[in-house]
Amino acid sequence: MASFPLESALAIGLGANLCSSYGSPESTLRWIAPRLSELLVDWGDAHARDVRCSSFLTTQPIGGPPGQDAYCNAVLLLTRVQRPPSELAALELLEHLQRLELSCGRDRQREQRWGPRPLDLDLLFWGELRLEHSRLVLPHPRMHLRSFVLKPLLLAMEGTHPPCW
Ligand code: AMP
Repeated sequence: MASFPLESALAIGLGANLCSSYGSPESTLRWIAPRLSELLVDWGDAHARDVRCSSFLTTQPIGGPPGQDAYCNAVLLLTRVQRPPSELAALELLEHLQRLELSCGRDRQREQRWGPRPLDLDLLFWGELRLEHSRLVLPHPRMHLRSFVLKPLLLAMEGTHPPCW
């Protein structure tokens, strides 16, 4: 049982399997996680103490082109977002996430679906908010099919502050 109200919790999945200017996939996630945490606190009008992070897991690629390198995955959880869930606020957050991906060298125009990438940030859920927007589906439609998301999500849910970076 979670020790916080899931109705106001929000989770982001982090993944990478290409080097970026910040180094290896794990170094990239370790660099981005505290920045993402600050961003979430500002965006969600939340407290830094309510951020939790899983450990960084090495996982084998699922789907996508054959022969990709292993991924590094983690989940960042904000246990209490003070802002009420809304489509507008969720889209605003998605834009922030995509800007962070770009800052790590992500090039959506050139990459293959589920192909290698220096940073992937997925909004997994925000409380009970359900969205079917052309740019954002919530809860993330494939979250429950991916052990590389579910394992770190569980670790983040069980964890306590401070995060592990
Ligand atoms: P990906 O290749 O996983 O990074 O796919 C990103 C695309 O999925 C973007 O164009 C987003 O607009 C879209 N998308 C839909 N739902 C979500 C979500 N819950 N989190 C992140 N991106 C999403």
